[in-house]
Amino acid sequence: MNALYLFTSEGLMALAGYTSADTLFAFDLDGTLAPIVDDYSAARISELVRVRLERLISLAKVSVISGRSRKDARDILGFEPHLIVGNHGAEWPEDSYLRNHEFVACCTAWRNQLHEQLDGIQGVEIEFKGESLSIHYRRTIDPQIVLSLIESAIVDLTPSPKKIAGKFVVNLAPEEAFTKGEALMAAMDGFGLKRAVFFGDDITDEEVFQLKSVDLFGVHIGKDDWTAASYYLNSQSEMLDILDYMIMIIETQGRMRGTGVF
Ligand SMILES: [Mg+2]
Repeated sequence: MNALYLFTSEGLMALAGYTSADTLFAFDLDGTLAPIVDDYSAARISELVRVRLERLISLAKVSVISGRSRKDARDILGFEPHLIVGNHGAEWPEDSYLRNHEFVACCTAWRNQLHEQLDGIQGVEIEFKGESLSIHYRRTIDPQIVLSLIESAIVDLTPSPKKIAGKFVVNLAPEEAFTKGEALMAAMDGFGLKRAVFFGDDITDEEVFQLKSVDLFGVHIGKDDWTAASYYLNSQSEMLDILDYMIMIIETQGRMRGTGVF
């Protein structure tokens, strides 16, 4: 089923049906809340989006589920939502029972093994992120050959990692680590919420959109045939209006409740 454009009367009505103070509002970060930029380390959310998100967290539970480390995600956001899950679902807050320090030990071992195999290959960069690890190869002259070298180095890793696809990057995480889909379910469970709205643009966000066992309203950023999300936005810049719309609905619900109409 192809996703429908969210900015239609039908799409906005459907979103309104999911928008309330007892909904979990969950977001991917890069390409969803923050625009994609050439310099990966320079990503930031706009001031306008940040102000809306701070308003939203005063009305409902907000979670960010990102491939970044929690620390990087917090720096990009410039504020603290109710929950940040980092490393593609693998990294949870220090006080969470889902925090697993063995994942970090596992990625440390992989980093050392990969340095032995891949050091000296032009343009390959190993980024250690704690609970996951990224091998970047965007700057290589022949990405196909370099990718095959990376793939053969991964085959030799012990324990065997889970591979997470990306553009000119291979991400590795422990087999037992949560996917983004499992992370969203655990977040809903932790907050005791039965309904969620999720926005994302990555291949890994499909793990969320494909969830069958939760009451989810999924929005993919970008018009792509392959997404399992029910709705899409044309671009990241449309997030601002959608945030305003969701805030307006929850605030209206609150006012109606206050006057006894609701
Ligand atoms: Mg993204």
